[in-house]
Amino acid sequence: MDSNTSFTLAIEDLTVSFDGFKAVDSLNFYLDENELHVVIGPNGAGKTTVLDLICGKTKSTSGSIKFLNKELTNMSEHAIVNEGVGRKFQTPSIYENLSVLENLEISYPHGRGVYGSLMFKRSDKVLAKIKETAKEIMLLDDLDTEAGLLSHGQKQWLEIGMLLIQDPQLLMLDEPVAGMSVKEREQTADLLKKICKGRSVLVIEHDMEFVERIAHKVTVLHQGKILATGNMDEVQKDPKVIEVYLGH
Ligand code: ADP
Ligand code: MG
Repeated sequence: MDSNTSFTLAIEDLTVSFDGFKAVDSLNFYLDENELHVVIGPNGAGKTTVLDLICGKTKSTSGSIKFLNKELTNMSEHAIVNEGVGRKFQTPSIYENLSVLENLEISYPHGRGVYGSLMFKRSDKVLAKIKETAKEIMLLDDLDTEAGLLSHGQKQWLEIGMLLIQDPQLLMLDEPVAGMSVKEREQTADLLKKICKGRSVLVIEHDMEFVERIAHKVTVLHQGKILATGNMDEVQKDPKVIEVYLGH
């Protein structure tokens, strides 16, 4: 098949086996530009492993992951980031002792090499980008705040900002609203709806109210395979999905 040339991400027949156990089993998955796709499913379904495979943290046993038509399966994590894939882990990896501004500045792609960052001087262009990003993540008034003093939700937003400032074409977020207040969840939903414009966003999440708010498409993963995929309504009505996931 050569039908996948226009997808941002095209995963075909992807399998990873850990000592014979297939955590991801012959997965086919496609993502369009401007698409916000949420992956749900029971614990151990293989959701995080899919993100690990896309970002190169885990190497596949077989199959293909094409990002903008480029094969990622044999690329290093670092090279995959440089191709334009950003991934947020469950615990935020921000620099607690640095300000919001400094955290964003460190993440700004300036040549992207070690020398680039050593030679780096803050220019008006960089500052403008930092401010634009800070506004997007609702931290414009906190630019000088030490990151360690932010609320849990704000720390998550800051990490999203640290990815956004690199302008990724694909942004992946693993359980972004875990531990957030109701208000922060709503704000995060609005943020994700905005930032999927012009890129693709792949989110893993358990909070169904949140999923309903944001998802263009939902895929249910179960035992490394796709159980159902479609819009929220279709997936919620699916008897197989109710049985293995939503019924609990
Ligand atoms: P989910 O995110 O859907 O809860 P995971 O992707 O974290 O599930 O895990 C899927 C399965 O694969 C689990 O049984 C987990 O123990 C296993 N697994 C994940 N990563 C590894 C690894 N690096 N080595 C061995 N087993 C793993
Ligand atoms: Mg997980």
